[in-house]
Amino acid sequence: MLAAWEPVRAPYRALREPLIAAEGLLNGAVGSHRHRWRRLAEAVGDDQACATAVDELLAVSMTGWRLTPVNGGWRVALLPAPGTEPGELAALQGLVLLVESAGWARLRRCGQPGCVQVFLDWTNGGNRRACSVHRRSGHVNLAGSVEKFEDGGVMTGGRR
Ligand SMILES: [Zn+2]
Repeated sequence: MLAAWEPVRAPYRALREPLIAAEGLLNGAVGSHRHRWRRLAEAVGDDQACATAVDELLAVSMTGWRLTPVNGGWRVALLPAPGTEPGELAALQGLVLLVESAGWARLRRCGQPGCVQVFLDWTNGGNRRACSVHRRSGHVNLAGSVEKFEDGGVMTGGRR
């Protein structure tokens, strides 16, 4: 399976599935390159270190690029390296497209005290504050950020 490469801007609806997969990989799901995903998760907050970690992931996850016909036009597709699951490459591609469009601020640590999860924010406004677990729980407790949650800032499940 080839993952198509195309310019992306908000809304990031099309990236939702690969970004959910990327969150899983960042938070310890089994993947071909799990130690490199962990390195990226540990680098959150240091943009240059994140870029280095992503560059390493790209280097080991893909073998090259190929033009492929799509719907009467052409797109650039990434070719997975042997041993890289297509879903893992798609996750990496989704993360790269999101960062390319909206910056490293879209890769953050959960704001729930004591939570070590990192998450990707693909909302239009980039105003998520918690990982998927604590978003769903609906009782995120962030000092100083409560109003943001109550006015709908982070509860974006219905309008991705
Ligand atoms: Zn959390």
